[in-house]
Amino acid sequence: MADPVIEAALPAEEALAAIRALLGPRGVVEDALDQAPYLEEPRKLFPGRAALVTRPADRDQLAGVLRLCHAARLPVIPLGGRTGLVGGTTSQEGPPPVLISLERLNRILAVDAQAMTMTVEAGCILENIHRAAEAEGLLFPINLGARGSCMIGGNIATNAGGIQVLRYGNTRDLVLGLEVVLPDGEVWDGLRALRKDNTGYDMKQLFIGAEGTLGIVTAAVLRLFPKPEEVQTAFLGLPDAKAAIGLYALAQRLSGGTLSAFELIQRFGVEISCRHGGGVDPLAAPAPWYVLLEMSGAADGALRATLETLLEQAMEQGLVLDGTIAESGAQAAGLWHLREALVDTQQYEGASIKHDIAVPISRVPEFLEKAGAAALAVMPTARLLAFGHVGDGNIHFNLAQPAAGMTAEAFLAGSKAVYRAVHDVVASLGGSISAEHGIGQLKRAELAHYAPPAELRLMRAVKQAVDPRGIMNPGKILA
Ligand SMILES: Cc1cc2nc3c(=O)[nH]c(=O)nc-3n(C[C@H](O)[C@H](O)[C@H](O)COP(=O)(O)OP(=O)(O)OC[C@H]3O[C@@H](n4cnc5c(N)ncnc54)[C@H](O)[C@@H]3O)c2cc1C
Repeated sequence: MADPVIEAALPAEEALAAIRALLGPRGVVEDALDQAPYLEEPRKLFPGRAALVTRPADRDQLAGVLRLCHAARLPVIPLGGRTGLVGGTTSQEGPPPVLISLERLNRILAVDAQAMTMTVEAGCILENIHRAAEAEGLLFPINLGARGSCMIGGNIATNAGGIQVLRYGNTRDLVLGLEVVLPDGEVWDGLRALRKDNTGYDMKQLFIGAEGTLGIVTAAVLRLFPKPEEVQTAFLGLPDAKAAIGLYALAQRLSGGTLSAFELIQRFGVEISCRHGGGVDPLAAPAPWYVLLEMSGAADGALRATLETLLEQAMEQGLVLDGTIAESGAQAAGLWHLREALVDTQQYEGASIKHDIAVPISRVPEFLEKAGAAALAVMPTARLLAFGHVGDGNIHFNLAQPAAGMTAEAFLAGSKAVYRAVHDVVASLGGSISAEHGIGQLKRAELAHYAPPAELRLMRAVKQAVDPRGIMNPGKILA
């Protein structure tokens, strides 16, 4: 029988009152001060607003909220840890949205150590998932700097990548099943723990990376892996970016599948981490580029020997100028800090214009050269800062505000011209304008410009089929 709530058009005020009644005082955030963090995003480029900020206690309450919003045609934005970098959780367009935070759906529902799977609610903080896996001697490999705040639902909605993609894949590769509340409040139970399932279209993949535009992920079954017994970490100074690609090939050849991270950092990035993030430069002399690499596997001594051989051969071939291997977990953490502090501490160098691109790995040096020239042609006094998961061909190619002589406003006013110049280079190299952060509001004009028309048409058709009233996170991905 059709649901009368869904059939009837409901005035917005009545829907909001019904949501308040459904959730009770714990389920809504009314105080303006308490609401403030829900209306912000980390880069402070896209301020938010809300008709109501909600925190449902469970899936059924969340489905009830969606049914009421659907009936009243109220826009809805799902919120995870709000660490996304493309303005995915805020909106200034259309009627004020109902924000639905997943923070109370934070239970780990089951760990099956033998089958190596974990079933979690979408509001689980990523770091808590890591801990729960480790308690069983297992690993959930999605790992990123925001791990202490981001939630697995947000990781799924953005198909998050991070530092171990080259070995284990993206979030897309690590989700076996999903539970999703659809825009009209119906629950799709796809919470299967199957490794093989060829029963038609793979619906879970539709919601992974959809940035909350098709429905709200409420639970997931994740793949786990044996936790490596030993991890070896090295920080290497390189003469140029081209050497990183030669080093990557050598490392893959020698490591026998144990290479688990391979990050590129420009010298300016190390300076920023040391200046503002408490990092310590581990090498005696500065190098123009650095690689932070990690190998992980069995504790039989072979990893350390392989890493030393790699270093020797790389130095003989002129790929590495100098390097250090961490002697303890604390030293390894210090090396990783140099890379991870960068994301947050760039702000202390002024405003940034950021790109999150991918090109075929072998073309990374060509990208860096051409994109650098193209960006500086638009903004000659900007300072270039490139770093990223070079083992995936993914570079965060950023411009920092000039050290003097330009306000943040004047600098950011050039963003669109810089995006276009850099993304033209990406397109010419067969790359992607968003390797891991998604489209959100920030890149939707760029997506409309660069995506093949057939792909955009298919995306619009999917959106129309799943969310015909257009209430789910409007203005994200598709304009
Ligand atoms: C310091 C730092 C480092 C980072 N490093 C990386 C990195 O290495 N790799 C990477 O990929 N990203 C990285 N990011 C970006 C960000 O952390 C990821 O995109 C993360 O996956 C977002 O999770 P979240 O819970 O914070 O999602 P949010 O920011 O809350 O939301 C992101 C998007 O997903 C939607 N959404 C959230 N929850 C749900 C849900 N349950 N169902 C449906 N839609 C939902 C939102 O509406 C929004 O559109 C980094 C960010 C920071 C601040």
